[in-house]
Amino acid sequence: MPALPSHRLDVHLVPADRTDRAVAEVWSVWEDWVRRGYLTAEGPGPLAGELIPGGFVAARVDDPRAVVLYSNQVGGFQVRCPICGHGLAREFRPPGPTRCPECNGSFEVEDLDCRPPVALGRASIVLMDVASAVVNRVPTGWSVVLRRVG
Ligand SMILES: [Zn+2]
Repeated sequence: MPALPSHRLDVHLVPADRTDRAVAEVWSVWEDWVRRGYLTAEGPGPLAGELIPGGFVAARVDDPRAVVLYSNQVGGFQVRCPICGHGLAREFRPPGPTRCPECNGSFEVEDLDCRPPVALGRASIVLMDVASAVVNRVPTGWSVVLRRVG
């Protein structure tokens, strides 16, 4: 029997910058959120509920040392052509462009119709085991990626 997706949901907050500067940007937002009470050095702060309604259990900085695709790994993922709607799961090879065999279009990751949304990034803030999928303070230009953890 296949394993059922767990109920744990993590939120990755991903800066648009895909250079190494993204790591410093992530730490800068982390330190700002410590000052605001959303985080402590180790995890959720006293005002974590203002960041995510209901709060979260843990938090960390993710620094994979390369550009990676942040995406849902458990519980379903769809990628479709933004022009003709053709399913592109087989052709999808991030971080490079994806060619649609139906309409012959070529698309960057951010232009594809991905459900749930994905983001290419160099680093992220991870809010783990969130009580809701609503993020009240998304830094300007950052992406929000929800990830079920099996
Ligand atoms: Zn197409």
